[in-house]
Amino acid sequence: MRILIAGAGIAGLTAALSLHAVGFRPIVFEAVSKPAPLGVGINVLPHAMREFTALGLLDDMRRVGVDIQELRYLTRYGREIWREPRGMAAGYAWPQIAIHRGELQMLLLARVIERLGSDAVRFDRSLADLELNDGSVTAHFSSRTGGAAGQETADLLIAADGIHSAVRRKFYPDEGMPKWNRVTLWRSTARLAHFAMGPSMLWAGHSRQKFVAYPIRHDPETGETLLNWICDLKAESGETPGKEDWNKRGEPEDILAPFADWRWPGIDVPEIIRSAGSVYEFPMVDRDPIPRWSFGRVTMIGDAAHPMYPIGSNGATQAVIDARALAYHLRTANSVDTALAAYEGERLEATSRIVLMNRAQGPDKVMDLAQERAPNPEDDLDTRLPMSERAAIAADYKKVAGFDPAALNAKASYTP
Ligand SMILES: Cc1cc2nc3c(=O)[nH]c(=O)nc-3n(C[C@H](O)[C@H](O)[C@H](O)COP(=O)(O)OP(=O)(O)OC[C@H]3O[C@@H](n4cnc5c(N)ncnc54)[C@H](O)[C@@H]3O)c2cc1C
Repeated sequence: MRILIAGAGIAGLTAALSLHAVGFRPIVFEAVSKPAPLGVGINVLPHAMREFTALGLLDDMRRVGVDIQELRYLTRYGREIWREPRGMAAGYAWPQIAIHRGELQMLLLARVIERLGSDAVRFDRSLADLELNDGSVTAHFSSRTGGAAGQETADLLIAADGIHSAVRRKFYPDEGMPKWNRVTLWRSTARLAHFAMGPSMLWAGHSRQKFVAYPIRHDPETGETLLNWICDLKAESGETPGKEDWNKRGEPEDILAPFADWRWPGIDVPEIIRSAGSVYEFPMVDRDPIPRWSFGRVTMIGDAAHPMYPIGSNGATQAVIDARALAYHLRTANSVDTALAAYEGERLEATSRIVLMNRAQGPDKVMDLAQERAPNPEDDLDTRLPMSERAAIAADYKKVAGFDPAALNAKASYTP
């Protein structure tokens, strides 16, 4: 079976490795002309690590990233709201790995080339249009460096072309730009001699102003930590930013003033901001869930299918699971159509629920409740937000997002 994949991001490259592992040899078409390790930190949760382990990538990931052991939510005054173990410390059979997005992408790319051959990924081939035929699909490509770049006919086209997916636009032409909730994220990394919280994820503040930090690399020789950090600020008004603004360079000065007194024992937010490398500005955007991902011999995975707010660490994780589930069904079903129906049946509703739950702040909801009910440092948080309510929020999100420890450990990977 001839399979084309549009997009060499986390979803597209994981799909290529997963399809290869079950006997297919897909070809990946990527719009950019040269691969580059773009982005900052992302988290890969244990259910996606189960799938990377099945693909033989556990050691690679551990070498490049950090095993996260704990999650801590603090108020903007540094008071602890919630703390829970994460990854293997929480009893999962697989770790939670925090990693630089670009390094993960380059790692996956290297493994695709190693396993499928150097011609398995074609750069500067942007999917521009497609035609559905009876039992096949024809994809038309363009080159960013100049005009048309040929066409390919295949039994299946997998759209892994991200939040601005050309394939999604073809089937949902009136959808328009992604939806912005008026929160802007300033994202960067800082090299620290020591991170007081060790291999933990820190979330502080509330949905209008938040600071998030977690280590994505640890140098055993120097003891240095590369800390990924994000400052969220909500604007009072504003239009959805233009597409070209979505990954623009940000200025640390824009956030230093609002975070000036965010200092707690062992954590000095202004100091972390000042010691950052390049800062990127990114709007918090998603899209409404859609009723179908598959049309004839085309289907969508990852952000093309279900872009979601970066809340609850699920963007890359769900993309990996889509890729693995799709490869599994293509190998085990008795026809491509049955496989696509099984894939969509298993993944569409599940991911739509996460998109909607993230709009309601996902597990971060506990931070808003703490801010609403105990806005001042002297307020009695323990009475106003009982521990049982905090625990229920954390447990509910895990169930919806598929990483309840007992359920996750009991499930096998998508290996036929
Ligand atoms: C440059 C970049 C930086 C990012 N940085 C972060 C980050 O720091 N933190 C975070 O949480 N998430 C980040 N993300 C998003 C994150 O990678 C995704 O949410 C998640 O990993 C799902 O991945 P995906 O493969 O579905 O989409 P993406 O990672 O967006 O990958 C889509 C791929 O498709 C390619 N593409 C787009 N259009 C076409 C086309 N028409 N034809 C062929 N190829 C096409 C893109 O160049 C890209 O390589 C970033 C995405 C990108 C593209």
